[in-house]
Amino acid sequence: MEQRKIIEVRDLVKQYGDFTAVKGISFDVYENEVFGLLGPNGAGKSTTLEIIETLRPKTSGSVKVAGFDLDREPDAIKEIIGVQLQSSGYYPSLNLLELIDLFAGLYNQPVNARELLQAFNLEDKATAKFKALSGGQKQRFSIATTLINKPKIIFLDEPTTGLDPQARRNLWTLIQQVRAQGTTVVITTHYMDEAEFLCDRCAIVDSGRIIALDSPDALIDQLLAGGFEGRKVAKKANLEDVFIQLTGKELREE
Ligand code: ADP
Repeated sequence: MEQRKIIEVRDLVKQYGDFTAVKGISFDVYENEVFGLLGPNGAGKSTTLEIIETLRPKTSGSVKVAGFDLDREPDAIKEIIGVQLQSSGYYPSLNLLELIDLFAGLYNQPVNARELLQAFNLEDKATAKFKALSGGQKQRFSIATTLINKPKIIFLDEPTTGLDPQARRNLWTLIQQVRAQGTTVVITTHYMDEAEFLCDRCAIVDSGRIIALDSPDALIDQLLAGGFEGRKVAKKANLEDVFIQLTGKELREE
């Protein structure tokens, strides 16, 4: 099956004053894949995401999202993407239901707020304020809000940073469900096990350049083909499996 490009980035450059944070990167994201941007802190991942999200001006290069050109039709792009807000974007006096209704109003989209909360295991928190949520609940809510405008693509910037193993695995499942409903997911992460589990393809970004781009499996095979010998993999489970097995999969956040 031919894969259709939904994001096309060409020769993207971003300068902050004299400093070039993104040094001419090019990549495509295919429709309905989970695409990862991996790289150490300061590599330029968030800058790249925010440019595609229309939130930050680029210096040069071109970006197309679902055929819309970033320079000419940024509003058309905004309509079809879902973006996580910084937590400061959640008005402190509103509860989760009210926040969803507020965003739905801003997007002019009818949304069943209770259903959305239910899909993200947040029905018990419907009348809670954002700041009263646990870390995992905050992340789940912020991913839920990216779906309010029924986007074709969602962007998740380090969605599982700081979560315990249960909450992290729960979020992986939710991201897979979002994707199974036809949404393309672009994600940044520092966790390689997460990228290996979730991403169809990933770009490894370092100092503003893409230094590798392929499926996790192919990237690993390429490394091994070069004669690399990693740790001996003698066991079929790791310490996280032990932890989850002993403490259970249920979320521990209340
Ligand atoms: P990453 O998301 O990979 O950690 P960023 O895109 O946040 O990387 O940052 C890339 C580089 O650009 C870093 O060196 C960072 O310090 C710098 N940078 C990011 N935002 C700004 C800004 N607004 N002004 C100046 N430098 C910035």
